[in-house]
Amino acid sequence: MNEIEQRLQELERLGLSRRTRMVSGPQGPRVTLEGEPVLLLCSNNYLGLADHPRVREAAADAAMRWGVGAGASRLVSGTMTIHRRLEQRLAAFEGAEECVLFGSGYLANAGAIGALAGRGDTIFSDELNHASIVDGCRLSRAEVVVYRHRDVDDLKRLLHLHGSGSGRRLIVTDSVFSMDGDLAPLAEIVGLAKQHGARTIVDDAHAIGAIGPGGRGAIAQAGLLGEVDIAIGTLGKSLGSYGAYACASEETIRYLVNTARPLIFSTAPPPPAVAGALAALELLEEEPQRVQQLRSNARILRNALTSTGIGAENGEMHIVPLIVGDERATMSLCEKALEHGIFVQAIRPPTVAQGTSRLRLAVMATHTADELREAACVLAGAARELDLDLTGAPSAATALAA
Ligand code: PMP
Repeated sequence: MNEIEQRLQELERLGLSRRTRMVSGPQGPRVTLEGEPVLLLCSNNYLGLADHPRVREAAADAAMRWGVGAGASRLVSGTMTIHRRLEQRLAAFEGAEECVLFGSGYLANAGAIGALAGRGDTIFSDELNHASIVDGCRLSRAEVVVYRHRDVDDLKRLLHLHGSGSGRRLIVTDSVFSMDGDLAPLAEIVGLAKQHGARTIVDDAHAIGAIGPGGRGAIAQAGLLGEVDIAIGTLGKSLGSYGAYACASEETIRYLVNTARPLIFSTAPPPPAVAGALAALELLEEEPQRVQQLRSNARILRNALTSTGIGAENGEMHIVPLIVGDERATMSLCEKALEHGIFVQAIRPPTVAQGTSRLRLAVMATHTADELREAACVLAGAARELDLDLTGAPSAATALAA
């Protein structure tokens, strides 16, 4: 047996083997999964814009007008009218001086981190930061100091311990954590950064379009617009498309354009994706009630889970983790829910820590209240059938400030 076969067998034995599951049709609340109709509860298409007619039309028109591919990186010939149009709209939306698009959130985090920290510098990173931040830190070759999840005292202690020295210092955090749906203490982090001469990168991927005034994200909600050195947002979640962006001062964006390797050495985002995101942003600005609908749906799901006896905190966060713990038990719960028509993907290591495997429920504004209540009943029934106790399922979600 070669080492690839061995590794695959080991993953199977540990309950960690993965495979893709095919969805037919667009990412609506109800999809056909491998031939079976299911209620979709694990898509980041939070506002239902990925399949909105205006977004589809904008992408189709852009394909006719500008073609499908950008043909080159941004610094060669890949900066097209539509890229600049979206960057200007995003900067205005976020109240930032400037904005630059990246190919994806993964690339944006890797690029921004690598631009602000390198060999001889120190990065302070939350232990539950997204893998793209973790990999960005590794790629940067800076020293990485991991602080306890959302723990401002631990961050302060580590900032003192790793004194300023000669290198640059950078604090990086998700705003809404992708697998727990809880919120970073952004005001305290930005305060500490200022005291300790550190720069900040905040990844607002799961917050843009989902929380904050008019869906402007967690940074805006905390009143910190302009206070964070680089704000990262993605186009692949609430904005229904693909790609990502960084918002910052004009000088910092010019610096990213000159130094961020994933931007320099990767083909510019395709015009249809950019135009689709622009149409989604316009819809978000025209119809901010979609954000309220998402939050209200999150409340409905959380209340429904609680009334079935599943331990989900009351709150309004649209990401609801049901932590099972064991990898195989989590997979069984996922399969059992599927048998009853509910699709919630199981999340296991290395995406989350060992022993914290979970179903990550993602609410969409386009779910109906009945669908969300049905999902809660099915999940509770599936847990009972499998003899799993989810009554105390620790959900890390934090109630949002009004
Ligand atoms: N940041 C966070 C917090 C994420 O959850 C993700 C992906 N889900 C990314 C960045 C990466 O974004 P993309 O999918 O655009 O690469």
